[in-house]
Amino acid sequence: MRSTSVEEALAALQQHGGDARVLAGGQSLIPAMRYRLARPAVLVDINRVQGLDTLHEADGHLHIGATLRDARLEFTPWIAERYSLLSDVSRVVADPIVRHMGTVVGSVCHNDPSGDWTAAALAARATMTVQGQDGPRDVLIDDFLIDAFQTSVQDGELAIAMRLPTPGPRTQGSYQKIERKVGDYATCAAAVQLTLDDAGLISAAGVAITAAATTAIRVAKAEAMLIGQRPTLQLLQDAAMEASILSTPVADARGSVAYKKDMARVLVLRGLKQSLTRLNAEVTA
Ligand SMILES: Cc1cc2nc3c(=O)[nH]c(=O)nc-3n(C[C@H](O)[C@H](O)[C@H](O)COP(=O)(O)OP(=O)(O)OC[C@H]3O[C@@H](n4cnc5c(N)ncnc54)[C@H](O)[C@@H]3O)c2cc1C
Repeated sequence: MRSTSVEEALAALQQHGGDARVLAGGQSLIPAMRYRLARPAVLVDINRVQGLDTLHEADGHLHIGATLRDARLEFTPWIAERYSLLSDVSRVVADPIVRHMGTVVGSVCHNDPSGDWTAAALAARATMTVQGQDGPRDVLIDDFLIDAFQTSVQDGELAIAMRLPTPGPRTQGSYQKIERKVGDYATCAAAVQLTLDDAGLISAAGVAITAAATTAIRVAKAEAMLIGQRPTLQLLQDAAMEASILSTPVADARGSVAYKKDMARVLVLRGLKQSLTRLNAEVTA
């Protein structure tokens, strides 16, 4: 069913309940249907819904609408200038063909354990806006991501947008991903975002890893260790180690458990260092 308004899409989703699935970019849903991993009776296509392909700043937040393609973030100059974490991610998700169809919100809703946008959303403190019969509700990304391929979106609901706090003047991030070859899902990846205060202390930190558990996870202990501190190499190494301790990857063709756990540490360390380099901050010994 092709919807041209949010109300129409919601009516279709509510009418068909668990038999219906939202179709956004189709880059995960269509392959899943081809392999008979998903067999929805009804697809609710939201691509023609007016006003969902938004990318704008308002009320201290960046608003990313439900049909905004990854490629829009990749090719929007002010995103590259001001949202370094998002810009990094937008260049390493899959390949250009997938990025021209796949949506950021669809990817977060899909919640693949190896998804790139879920880790970025955690590090950047995103909030998802979900609309259902009773109107819209805001869900913090930490509560939105429940488990592999599971989110807090219920049958009959539609995720309308993702919202991220506008970074302050001394905020930078980085996304570090290792993959077997260009276009592959991550073997492991780390999303980092840091804010420095006027004295050069870390005043806010976001650290998340993906392909390291059943869903992307926040490394809260690393964040807590960093806040209020001056960046030293030892501090960054200790914080990065928390990612390795927290990660629970599975062994597969992309690597062993030991390798992936060590890569979680390496990639968080790289992300912290690159964020600080982008902030022109000195890392003392
Ligand atoms: C070859 C290939 C390589 C890929 N590599 C990567 C990679 O390296 N990293 C990565 O992160 N991803 C990768 N992907 C996945 C890709 O980025 C998808 O685009 C993304 O996961 C899903 O976005 P979509 O808009 O295509 O969603 P769809 O496929 O349309 O939907 C995915 C799921 O989310 C639900 N959904 C979508 N939008 C909403 C909404 N607004 N409200 C409620 N539910 C919704 C759908 O019902 C469905 O269950 C790859 C895909 C392919 C085909």
